[in-house]
Amino acid sequence: MKIAIAGGSIAGLACALTLTCTGHDVHVYERSATPLRGRGGGVVVLRQMLRFLEQHGQRTRSMLAVPTHRRRWIDMDGHVIRDDPELLPFSSWDAVYRSLCSMLPPGAIHYGHHVASVAEDADGVDIRFDVGSSAVRADVLIAADGTGSRLRSLLFPGSASSYAGYIAWRGVVDENAFKRDHVADLIENMTLHRSDAELFMTFLIPALDGSLESGTRRFNWLWYRNEPDESSTDSFLTGRDGRRHHVSVAPGELSEPSLAYLHRAALERLPRIVSQLVTATPAPFLQSISDALSPSFAKGRIALVGDAACTLRPHTGSGTSKAADDAVSLAQALATPAPDVVTALDDWAARRRSAVEPLLLKGPRLAQSFGLGYPSH
Ligand SMILES: Cc1cc2nc3c(=O)[nH]c(=O)nc-3n(C[C@H](O)[C@H](O)[C@H](O)COP(=O)(O)OP(=O)(O)OC[C@H]3O[C@@H](n4cnc5c(N)ncnc54)[C@H](O)[C@@H]3O)c2cc1C
Repeated sequence: MKIAIAGGSIAGLACALTLTCTGHDVHVYERSATPLRGRGGGVVVLRQMLRFLEQHGQRTRSMLAVPTHRRRWIDMDGHVIRDDPELLPFSSWDAVYRSLCSMLPPGAIHYGHHVASVAEDADGVDIRFDVGSSAVRADVLIAADGTGSRLRSLLFPGSASSYAGYIAWRGVVDENAFKRDHVADLIENMTLHRSDAELFMTFLIPALDGSLESGTRRFNWLWYRNEPDESSTDSFLTGRDGRRHHVSVAPGELSEPSLAYLHRAALERLPRIVSQLVTATPAPFLQSISDALSPSFAKGRIALVGDAACTLRPHTGSGTSKAADDAVSLAQALATPAPDVVTALDDWAARRRSAVEPLLLKGPRLAQSFGLGYPSH
């Protein structure tokens, strides 16, 4: 079949890979004009995603992830108040993205293609783009366009994502930007600090070029903070260009008042050993945390995957692995010659939706245990 994918990030590329492997003619349409780079910070790469990358490209945990030994909670004075073994594989969004891109056939990803509308008939789907590109026709369309998915809203009006009541300030800063003894306790450990309605964490991730050599790696940090008042979230989401961004402000785009606020808050509210990471970060960024669940993961010849189908809270650390599972299961569903592709997608959608539902509940429970987000009723 000819399969079009809207969105060329982790979920879209994972689907492109599995569907190409099972013999389909796959084209990814990504709205960004250039390959995505340096945008995502650190990710925990759970077992399904590692298995998927190993099976498809011989990349192993030791090539993608910085070893981590301890999970340490520190108090405001920087003293360790809890210390447990930790073996989570911490990698970077870039490393996972680059691995996926390198495994796809040349020319499979079409940049600068913003899917604007779709029209389905009995034999296929017509896909139209915002400007400058001719429409394409495919047997199946996969919506991998993220939490703010335009396709989900077109297919299921009223299914927009909902704000969860807190935001994540994030950043990445070079390991060698600091004197070794100033950050020694943070090296190859996950370090966390918690206070009322706030959670800070940091861990090392690979260098932007993928290097895992000591001294070349980067500290990734995330600082979750409750912002129940949507007007303050609005002001943080308004970038230096004056535009109100949807759910995230990319590195380099935070406004001067937001940056000043972040630095002030870090110096006042975080232990010195970690506030130095925040204030030394060249281009912090921001994501508001939201929930989204599509009423169904397929409609006719269009399937939804990744955050477009269901956006999990980040504390589950499983967004990329869920995307890998979506991709593998979808390729299996479309590999068996189905007399009717619509029925195959429908069956897949029902199975996938019930498989992800437990993860969907786990996120808010974890968030509440840290005092984050709107209280559940
Ligand atoms: C704070 C935070 C921390 C996280 N930490 C982790 C973690 O530790 N581990 C983990 O596994 N996951 C984590 N995640 C989640 C993870 O990043 C995502 O679940 C995963 O990357 C899958 O994203 P996606 O590809 O579905 O969507 P996205 O990454 O949002 O990609 C959507 C793509 O579609 C493109 N697009 C959008 N609209 C259109 C259109 N109309 N036409 C064409 N292209 C379009 C966009 O440009 C983008 O490239 C975290 C998320 C957040 C917010």
